[in-house]
Amino acid sequence: MQTRSPALPVSVRPSACPGLLRIVASADGGICRIKLPGGRLDATQARAIAAAAERHADGVLEATNRANLQIRGVRAGAEAVLSAALLDAGLGPRQAAADDVRNLLLSPAAGLDPDTPLDTWPLAERLLDLLQDTPRFHALSAKFALHLDGGEGLAMLEHPHDIWLAAMSAEAAPLFAFGLAGCPPRQAEEAPALAAVPMAQVPALVEALLDLFLTLAGDGQTRMRQLLAEHSADTLLQRLQQRLAFPLRRERAVTDWRRRDVPAFAHLGSQPQRQPGLCRVGAAFVLGRLDSHLLRALAALAERHGDGSLRLTPWQSVLLPNVAAAEAPAVLDALRQLGLATRAEEPLARLIACSGSSGCARGLADTKGDALRLAARLGASTALPGLHLCGCPRSCAAAHVAPLTLLAVADGRYHLYRRAPAQPGFGQLLARDLTLDAAGDLLCGPGALPDA
Ligand code: SF4
Repeated sequence: MQTRSPALPVSVRPSACPGLLRIVASADGGICRIKLPGGRLDATQARAIAAAAERHADGVLEATNRANLQIRGVRAGAEAVLSAALLDAGLGPRQAAADDVRNLLLSPAAGLDPDTPLDTWPLAERLLDLLQDTPRFHALSAKFALHLDGGEGLAMLEHPHDIWLAAMSAEAAPLFAFGLAGCPPRQAEEAPALAAVPMAQVPALVEALLDLFLTLAGDGQTRMRQLLAEHSADTLLQRLQQRLAFPLRRERAVTDWRRRDVPAFAHLGSQPQRQPGLCRVGAAFVLGRLDSHLLRALAALAERHGDGSLRLTPWQSVLLPNVAAAEAPAVLDALRQLGLATRAEEPLARLIACSGSSGCARGLADTKGDALRLAARLGASTALPGLHLCGCPRSCAAAHVAPLTLLAVADGRYHLYRRAPAQPGFGQLLARDLTLDAAGDLLCGPGALPDA
């Protein structure tokens, strides 16, 4: 875990994104985002976060879709002392300017997955060091994000990233394919990898790519997709190759490569690890929310049954690694008692909702309250795919387009969309201005939705 620099100033550049040192105001108080390297934290840090949330805020926490935690309701005037408490717990960057750039997603099952001998964590640490220790990279947007995929059976493959890197085979040191402004391809029709490099060259590749991005990005171009709108991928690859001392591999095996698919809801329940006799146990927070008491209880569970560590996931859930297989049922039971969802059949495992009008001035409806009411109505329906209740088009709760979206248009009223790859935004508009009851009627039962 990272440690606090004693000389760290509590000042950062302006941005709309919350950070550990930049508490952003919201309707329910300030938001402080704690970036967890690889989504990981230990029980001591979890308790430090819980204590800070109680002392300097209302004790309300949120799991984000980038596997981070944020404290909500930070009291006015308590911002600096809250940040200092979190830095003391080893949760901050090495220097203030590096907080925003610690955006690297990896599988919560990295190092645990039975299907691959690769543990991406050492490579992830090198990339996080590169991002933090290179002052030039501190100019990257707080939203600029990387994905390092080790080929695990638990992976978020729907969130587009500015740079994605993916192991091409189940070996200890595979080739890594990479692409820009997207996701590793799984289907033949999806955009292929641009090129690949041996694992040992990944840090040099990322360094050159980031430097190239910053060199070429013009005014207002903060994300890779904006750069690609002006420069073709081939042009970028040529410029990239000129900066590298090794060849980019672009043979057919690279462009034909497709990532193996992953089962849905693999973040829930207990799954065997590659370490004999051990399991990872996962459960989802209800609508991404938790509080300081729940975080403390999770820390105690991790110490009692696991190795004292927790891993946050991009599904707004938590995973306890290294639990003895014989103890997994007791851990799952404890998680259920704490109010977490542990099975895909539970409607709340299939719903996400942003803060909505109860926590955000932009919210047109109480999305969290409406999601709870909808979940009670839906019952145990496996027919319902993922559903996102969104308070406005900014879509803060999901970095990807959900299979179904209810977009608020007024208090208690929503447009319903179905994901359609060929259509931008939330997809195909199925119904307008629905009450919650009308939305429930449409969503309940097989065949209730109109055909695509
Ligand atoms: S999606 Fe809109 S309403 Fe919901 S939290 Fe984001 S800005 Fe607020």
